[in-house]
Amino acid sequence: MVDFNVPPYAGNELAYIKRAIENHKICGDGEFTKKCSAWMERRFDTRRCLLTTSGTTSLEMAARLCDLEPGDEVIMPSFTFSSTANAFVQVGAKIVFVDIRPDTMNIDERKIEHAITDRTRVIVPVHYAGVGCEMDEIMRIAREHGLKVVEDAAQGVMGQYKGRALGSIGHFGCYSFHETKNYSMGEGGAILINEVDGQDPTPSIEKSEIMREKGTDRSRFMRGQVDKYTWVDYGSSYLPSDMLAAYLWAQLEKADEINEDRLATWDAYYEAFTPLAQAGRIELPHVPEYCRHNAHMFWLKCADLDERTRFIAYLRERGVKAVFHYVPLHSAPAGLRFGRFDGGDEYTTRESDRLVRLPMYYRLSSEDRQTVIDAVTSFFREN
Ligand SMILES: *Cc1c(COP(=O)(O)O)cnc(C)c1O
Repeated sequence: MVDFNVPPYAGNELAYIKRAIENHKICGDGEFTKKCSAWMERRFDTRRCLLTTSGTTSLEMAARLCDLEPGDEVIMPSFTFSSTANAFVQVGAKIVFVDIRPDTMNIDERKIEHAITDRTRVIVPVHYAGVGCEMDEIMRIAREHGLKVVEDAAQGVMGQYKGRALGSIGHFGCYSFHETKNYSMGEGGAILINEVDGQDPTPSIEKSEIMREKGTDRSRFMRGQVDKYTWVDYGSSYLPSDMLAAYLWAQLEKADEINEDRLATWDAYYEAFTPLAQAGRIELPHVPEYCRHNAHMFWLKCADLDERTRFIAYLRERGVKAVFHYVPLHSAPAGLRFGRFDGGDEYTTRESDRLVRLPMYYRLSSEDRQTVIDAVTSFFREN
């Protein structure tokens, strides 16, 4: 069986976890937490990066840092994971869904302005499959209307838009290190706090440190900036164990190697399926030339839902696990309760019904890759 996903293991994970234990520092903010954050701050050129317990909690922190009031509106695609919306529902916001573009499956930047009202506060672009949204245009809209931008870059670690790291462009960027993502610590994430248009992000950085330290000024205390620590604001427990950061560090150390390995699989799939796309049997992902994706995912689109159902069953019979993605949030029970769809649903439902994701993970063997390619090709030959 070719699995759909195998969690990444780069080699030094156990040795580093052992070291975290020997350090007698298994809570957060130990050696490996610091290594991971410092590496990301340098590599992704962000003012502050804090490890969190998940992509979900990094989105929750970002939502809190936006200082919303009940009834404020947040614009996002409907084609995304529930956490993107939950983070903002949690702070009382109303979710306004906007249609996606069929070529990248990202939010359609041309449909955002129509959705803006006097209650709009935030835009949340989701970099689907690690391919960047049209950030120049999204940042222009945000600037013009005085909105914050929270990038859901859960899938976008190591991806780039016009030379800038995904997650480092909006006011806040949110990464996931779940086991299904390119770089993992089992469950984990990070929030990036960025400087936008020369605005100093220091107030947000201080607030985020307090929030992550259960609402106390413990970070300042540890740096000797205050002589006792106390409860100063709302907070929660968003800090992961250093043992998990140790697992992640083993992969960040080899981030380029992991990225290249995944891209090689992605490129091989793309090349093998190009004839099918040229024959009009399937559609393949589009990556704008100014985006560097991270091969988070390889998707293709069948003709319709019916063909997709048969295709996935056919692959399974041949030992290949393929899956689909996201029942659009706006049509889900919670989506109906917490949100509304602005403009027409031209692509969200139709395109999500057609999309299939193929096995994609670090060190997918060339034999397994060939099994996938043969199974896909024979389905379209026989059908
Ligand atoms: C994975 C994912 C999340 C959630 O990340 P977790 O670490 O699983 O909490 C949020 N948004 C998107 C787009 C994701 O793919």
